[in-house]
Amino acid sequence: MATVLDGKTLAERVRAEVAASVSDVGEVGLATILVGEDPASQIYIRRKHEAAEEVGIRSVDVRLAEETTQEELLDQVAALNRDPSINGVLVQLPLPGHVDEAAVIRAIDPDKDVDGLHPLNAGQLFLGRPRLVGATPVGIMELLLAYRVELKGAKAVVVGRSDIVGKPVALLLLQQHATVTICHSRTRDLESETLEADVLVVAAGHAALVTADMVKGGSTVVDVGMNRTDAGLVGDVDAAAMDVAGYMTPVPGGVGPMTIACLLRNTVTATRLQRVVV
Ligand code: NAD
Repeated sequence: MATVLDGKTLAERVRAEVAASVSDVGEVGLATILVGEDPASQIYIRRKHEAAEEVGIRSVDVRLAEETTQEELLDQVAALNRDPSINGVLVQLPLPGHVDEAAVIRAIDPDKDVDGLHPLNAGQLFLGRPRLVGATPVGIMELLLAYRVELKGAKAVVVGRSDIVGKPVALLLLQQHATVTICHSRTRDLESETLEADVLVVAAGHAALVTADMVKGGSTVVDVGMNRTDAGLVGDVDAAAMDVAGYMTPVPGGVGPMTIACLLRNTVTATRLQRVVV
């Protein structure tokens, strides 16, 4: 039976550290923009705000109608960029189809880009000099670090190549000297790849995509998936993999709480970046 990578408990520790650093830094503000009424996005946004308030980060919840134009959204981003009381700006994705997502992300001040999606931050990560990196990939690495999972020379397989999870976590694993394979929807034989993994990170958004027989015995499995099914919230890895893996994150209680805690920490990091006087 795998040791549980307990994101809930570790996230509490990270949040306590963030609360202490908020008092050090002084006023910290996080703004989120949600366009439209996607129910899952509304839940994520609410959780982010509750968590921010708990650690003493002032949070501003901007809600815009589904029909909001690109120009109106860009104006809103620009206003938050200018506002000195706002240190982190997060645009909840996905955006409605008529909006150019890349243009909106490019418009965020890179020093306030707490999701690490701006080309400058994504580029710094690519170059091996991470600056602001998305909360989910950072949270995953914190979990692996906390449980002293060996990464140097390990074979790591990441399933999923999104800008928000798959690609950045693959780059962070590479930076820790893992040998990284990135799998995606066109990968020919997923099972032959996952079975090789000493560290397997799955972020595909498909319930039970990875079954127990696809997991290498004694390996470390990080399940990023959050799929709402009739059976409740489930990950991308079948829970039966707990019997095969050496370490594994539960869903819920694994990556989810770490994402929220690391978002708060990113907001403090962003605040510090903005206060550096050169
Ligand atoms: P996405 O839809 O942007 O990307 C999914 C990726 O999975 C794609 O790159 C695709 O190529 C790959 N994929 C899809 N089907 C596949 C298959 N059959 N085999 C191999 N690869 C396949 O999703 P995302 O934003 O990266 O999120 C992935 C999952 O992680 C979702 O369930 C999302 O809800 C969850 N998520 C959780 C957290 C958290 O805090 N726990 C944060 C972000 C995302």
